[in-house]
Amino acid sequence: MAEATVQTRVLILGGGVTGLWLLDELRRSGVGALLVEARALGSGQTIAAQGIIHGGLKYTLSGRMTDAAKSIREMPDLWRRCLAGEASPDLSKTRLRAERCLLWRTSELSSRLGMIGARFGLRVAPKSLAAAERPPLLRACPGTVAVLDEQVIQPATMLHALAGAHPGRVLLGSDVEVESTDPCRVRVRHGEQAVVVKCDRVVLAAGAGNAELREAFGLDAALMQRRPLHMTVVRNREAKSGPLEVINGHCVDGARTRVTITSEMDDAGRVLWQVGGEVSEVGVSMSRDELIRHVRSELAVCLPDLRFDAGDGVEWSTYRVDRAERTTPGNRRPDMAAVITEERVTTVWPTKMVLAPIVASAVCAELRTGTVADDDLAGVAGWPAPTVAIPPWSEAPWTADDSVV
Ligand SMILES: Cc1cc2nc3c(=O)[nH]c(=O)nc-3n(C[C@H](O)[C@H](O)[C@H](O)COP(=O)(O)OP(=O)(O)OC[C@H]3O[C@@H](n4cnc5c(N)ncnc54)[C@H](O)[C@@H]3O)c2cc1C
Repeated sequence: MAEATVQTRVLILGGGVTGLWLLDELRRSGVGALLVEARALGSGQTIAAQGIIHGGLKYTLSGRMTDAAKSIREMPDLWRRCLAGEASPDLSKTRLRAERCLLWRTSELSSRLGMIGARFGLRVAPKSLAAAERPPLLRACPGTVAVLDEQVIQPATMLHALAGAHPGRVLLGSDVEVESTDPCRVRVRHGEQAVVVKCDRVVLAAGAGNAELREAFGLDAALMQRRPLHMTVVRNREAKSGPLEVINGHCVDGARTRVTITSEMDDAGRVLWQVGGEVSEVGVSMSRDELIRHVRSELAVCLPDLRFDAGDGVEWSTYRVDRAERTTPGNRRPDMAAVITEERVTTVWPTKMVLAPIVASAVCAELRTGTVADDDLAGVAGWPAPTVAIPPWSEAPWTADDSVV
């Protein structure tokens, strides 16, 4: 087996949004860094995400200013500038699913949400949408439909934009073997090739893969929790026709988000919806068919004008995915991103895609002091780069709507 040795300041293990954003921020700060991805970029959570650039409103529906809302409220502005190519990283090649999210359901929705937004100083307070501006599917919804300046992105194109900016520094490699941690010497492999990376710091940004990596580094793997989701995907059977239209937003009921719909036109020209929110949490204990039936009836309540049998109808699929986070008492959602440094190893979980910049800034701030190692990456010239993961529904089985009921 051919083995090379390279040297850099920071080795990042995991190429989802967190690892890639961190790589970009480190390079912009002049810090040497190399990222190794075991499968395809974003495999796991990022490629499966709905892509909403949350601004915190969802976390204040209970009427409290939570820590989650506090840490998230600056993010939409930063992401908006990156997506416009006006701030770094340059995400201007990312495909936008929507410029804004919609909120609908109850008659007092707009006033209540407006009050919450103002009280908590959220940067993205909801505004009510004029009746004429409502998308056709929301015309018959009771009460006000509100609009929220939260953009929705397609994660795959964001991953392309992030990785594309750093050729030669994003490598495909697995079977991490820790030779030593002081100084750090980590071996990774690809087929018959192996490389030993000498570095000052290792950052574990591997999502659910962090548990196994922590074990490899002699750290407590039980610091990670998983919170499962069972997501539903529904799409028009034919291109340019069918009951679904592109719509992005939440149907809320009190503090509950009954459904969160994000959508786009797929490569075949069909409108495709990812359906999350409460249905994806209660759906964890359901079979695929039970969940599809449940989501079908929830959508019929949340969108009274939706006719599943219109045109050529729709087809359904589901996928399961775990959110990987730092442990909390009772397996609750953590309020903030986690950045945990133990000697020369830092473990990160952003909790939300939108919080990846907070993780990157925290790690960079820690690295402002310390030994500066010169970069020597000649040993990985020509090493293979990972591709971007494909969405979980791309190869999933689909069920026609007439066999659901
Ligand atoms: C269904 C769903 C919807 C979501 N929607 C939103 C949303 O709308 N907005 C939002 O802000 N957040 C959302 N989130 C949360 C968000 O997706 C995650 O917080 C975020 O994507 C985590 O990114 P990550 O880079 O830390 O992990 P991941 O995206 O899981 O990436 C980890 C990477 O590490 C790699 N890896 C694993 N093991 C190893 C190893 N041993 N060596 C090297 N590499 C390894 C994996 O292959 C993978 O590419 C959603 C999550 C889910 C599951």
